[in-house]
Formats: sequence, C-alpha cells, structure tokens
Amino acid sequence: MNRFHILTLFPEMVMDGLNTSIIGRAVEAGHLKIQAVNIRDYSQNKHMKVDDYPYGGGAGLVMQPEPIYRAYEDLVKDMKKKPRVIYMTPQGRVFHQDMAKELAKEEELVFLCGHYEGIDERVLEEIVTDYVSIGDYVLTGGELPAMVMIDAISRLVPGVLHNDDSAGDESFENGLLEYPQYTRPPVFLDKKVPDVLLSGHHENIRKWRHEQSVKRTKERRPDLWKEYEENEGKE
Ligand code: SAM
Repeated sequence: MNRFHILTLFPEMVMDGLNTSIIGRAVEAGHLKIQAVNIRDYSQNKHMKVDDYPYGGGAGLVMQPEPIYRAYEDLVKDMKKKPRVIYMTPQGRVFHQDMAKELAKEEELVFLCGHYEGIDERVLEEIVTDYVSIGDYVLTGGELPAMVMIDAISRLVPGVLHNDDSAGDESFENGLLEYPQYTRPPVFLDKKVPDVLLSGHHENIRKWRHEQSVKRTKERRPDLWKEYEENEGKE
C-alpha cells in the first residue's frame, strides 16, 4: 500500500479533491492511504499564526519554519525510514510521467505545500529531498500541484486502475501520445468511427493505432517526437 502525507494549511482542499472517483475508491479499497496534516495545528503562537514578513523586505508573507518542522517530526517519528519529502515549488524539476513511475515505488511520500510567498529556506534545507514543479507558471499554493502529483502517481499503483492495461497503453508510456479513442454510437454528427476499429482485425487495429499515435505526436508535440526518433535510432 502506498501512503501519501500532505503537509498543508488547507487540508480540506486536498482531501475533498482526492476523495472522489477512482482515487477515492482506491483509498476505500485499501490500495492507498491519503492523509492531510494541518501545519497550523503545530503553531505555538496564541493566534495560531504560521507566517511572517520576509527579512530584507518585499511583498507578501513567508511561512515560518517551526510549525512545518514540528509537523514533519511528528509525522515521521513512527516511520521505519525517513521518507522522501517533496516540496511543491515552481523552482523544482518539472513533473513528468517517468517521475510518477519512479515515485509510485515509494511506500511513503510526503508532499509539502507552500502558500503566500513560499517557505523559510532553513526548514526546506532540513527536511526536503525533492523540489518539484508542475509547470512553468506560478500558483497561489502547493495544494493543486500535490493533488496533481498524487493523482498521477496513484493510478500507477497496482490495483488502483481496475484494468491494469489501461495505464500501459497511454500517452507517454512508449514516448508517444495515445491514438484517438471512439465509443458508441458508430455514427455521430455524420462522423463514422474508423472502419478498422469495427473490423475485429487485431493486427490492423494495432497498426492503425500506432500510425495515429505517430501522426498525433508529430502534430501536437514535436518536442516529444524528436526525442522518440532519437531514442528509436539508439535501439
Ligand atoms: N515566491 C515563490 C517563487 O517565486 O518561486 C512562489 C510562491 S507561490 C505564490 C506559493 C506556493 O505555491 C509555493 O510555495 C509552492 O508550494 C506553490 N506553487 C506555485 N506554483 C507552483 C508550481 N508551478 N509547481 C509547484 N508548486 C507551485
């Protein structure tokens, strides 16, 4: 079972978002455990304050190190080994499918969500093992990025997707985007489902899907296509 722990100021946001649909069912079935820890519960300030003005001036507030450190210490005290702690930050490595695959092998993962102007550097130096971004744009907090990562990682955990093949065939799995998909009805707005998909000829279907994947990748993600061609050449 994979366990995800999220250190956040907004526990309801992440729990509400992750307790639905496939991920919610996987939690119920015992394939995953998702826990949000409210950093504010670890403030020792009488107003439960967790942020303050940045030293050196500048706009906004910075999350203070002590409540985060106390929340982390409390979380890891009963763990057999120190878990990887991922700080969600626009300054990190950009998240991608291979990273999701690698992280799906970890039994415990901790996601640290910043807010406001970010987090005091000293606690990051002390507890963070990985700095990860979900893209080159700035969000208001690390909660959505943590949810994105947990969703992508969870679907690679055995048992989470009912049909274990459904992760295998997808975009990025073989370096290409997935082919177009069709379902009933056979005709929609005068558009017919491609004949080959109704033919029952598995080899032809496989070939058609591969051609479509190539076409789509070239058109939509020339960067990915270039990488694919380079890797194919090496094999
Ligand atoms: N001042 C920070 C900077 O310029 O790097 C940005 C802080 S941002 C407004 C607040 C928090 O949102 C960050 O601490 C981080 O946890 C999260 N965040 C924002 N954009 C993100 C992204 N692209 N990927 C991951 N986390 C992000």
